[in-house]
This record gives sequence, structure tokens and C-alpha cells, in this order.
Amino acid sequence: MENALDNVIEKWNKRPLIISGPCSAETEEQVLQTAQRLAATGKVDMLRAGIWKPRTRPGSFEGIGTKGLPWLQAAKKLTALPTAVEVATGKQVEDALHFDVDVLWIGARTTVNPFSVQEVADALRGVKVPVLIKNPINADLELWTGAVERVAKAGIERIGLIHRGFSAYGNTEYRNAPMWHLAIEMKRRNPDMLLINDPSHICGRRDILQEVAQEAIDLDFDGLMIESHIDPDNAWSDAKQQITPETLAALLDGIAWRK
Ligand code: PEP
Ligand code: MN
Repeated sequence: MENALDNVIEKWNKRPLIISGPCSAETEEQVLQTAQRLAATGKVDMLRAGIWKPRTRPGSFEGIGTKGLPWLQAAKKLTALPTAVEVATGKQVEDALHFDVDVLWIGARTTVNPFSVQEVADALRGVKVPVLIKNPINADLELWTGAVERVAKAGIERIGLIHRGFSAYGNTEYRNAPMWHLAIEMKRRNPDMLLINDPSHICGRRDILQEVAQEAIDLDFDGLMIESHIDPDNAWSDAKQQITPETLAALLDGIAWRK
């Protein structure tokens, strides 16, 4: 158990830290195949997968739920990749930890709600798990900061920030406007905190992923979280923005990393 945490901390401290995996865990086969193909690239440090999906509108796929957690456990056993899952309630924190999820993240729709963040934070008390906190969907640094403070007050030592852009009304170039200066300001306020960029949710499409990822690296971000899927076009959520593990490897190869 202690060794498992050491392994996660080693990854957590690696630069650049690369997290990838499907928007949603769909089937056991999909999770295992994605994990194996990501591991085979040798370029990914952590496997992400949404188990509970907070969807904007009802009627879309809302996540496979607890049933998918053993799939992530199996993927970790197969590949040695630590796993990361989004949590939005105290029960989800308990369930994820019960199935040995290594890193938890708070999603953009949860960061906006202090009651929800507090509930998650309360469930984290006494636990050593690292936690990533996505920016809220609206451009409000105080809400983002408040979520960080609630999690820190619960005793979580390793907190990271994920910049996934901010929503705007109507059709825009991006699914979520990056407003890079807000992420930079958040890093200025929290210089010791990991800052990860999530180009997938900023872009909402594949063709500009590379340039957004490059921009993040040029701005000295500590890592990237990019969604990947074995069959992106048929993904059950966020199909337009996901890429195969092999396309991810090519994208990462095309980035000019900072020395
Ligand atoms: C996700 O990571 O799949 C997700 C739901 O992201 P966000 O919270 O950034 O919308
Ligand atoms: Mn997604």
C-alpha cells in the first residue's frame, strides 16, 4: 500500500506529467485496451477515466458508476499505471478509494458548488490521496481558490490544478475559452501547486489539440491531461475531442518541450 503511494508520488513529481484515458469508462474491454495501448506508448504516466459523469443535460450517458471501478483496478494491475477518477460526492470518494483509485479530481461542474466541494473535502479527511481540482466552468478564480482551500483544510497535502477553460455562450472557436491569464494567475497564487492543462475540454475537437497543448507547455505548465479512446468516434461521451493512444503519442512527439 505504502509502495503504491510512493509510485503515485513519483509520477506526481514527474515533469511533464502526462495523464490520459477515456472521457468515460464504458466497458471493461475498452478500459483495459485503452490502458494497454497507452502504456505501450511509454509516454503516459497516469490513466484517467470518468466513472460518474456530470452531464449538462439529462438523457446522455451519466457514467457506468461503481461497476467500472474494478476495471480500473484491473487496468492498473495490467499496466502499472496509477489511476485517476472524478469525484463529486462523499460516497464517490469512499467508493473510489475502496477500489484503490490513486488520484481523485474535482470536475469543473463541482468546483462551482461550495456545498459539493465541502462534502468531497470532508470525505477526504485523514486520507493521503493526491487531489486535482479543475477550474470552475465560469471564469471565477475565487471559486477555484475556495475549492483549493476546502481541500487543503481537509488535510490533503498534494493538490494540483487543472486548467480546462471557461464556458461562453454560443459557438466559439473553443468549447471552453482558455483565458490563459487566469491559469497563470492561479499558478502565481499557488506557486508550489502542480498546474496541468486539459486541452481536450478546452478544444472540444481534435484538430486544435496540439496547438493548445503546445501553448500550455510554452507557458510552463507542469503537464497535460488529454482524453484518449480506442474508438474515439464511437465514444459514449466527448466523442469529437478524443484521440487514439497512438495519435496521442504522435501529438506528444510533436511538442517542443521546454528544456
Ligand atoms: C472530464 O474530464 O471528462 C470532464 C467532465 O471534464 P470537466 O469537468 O472539465 O468538464
Ligand atoms: Mn470529457
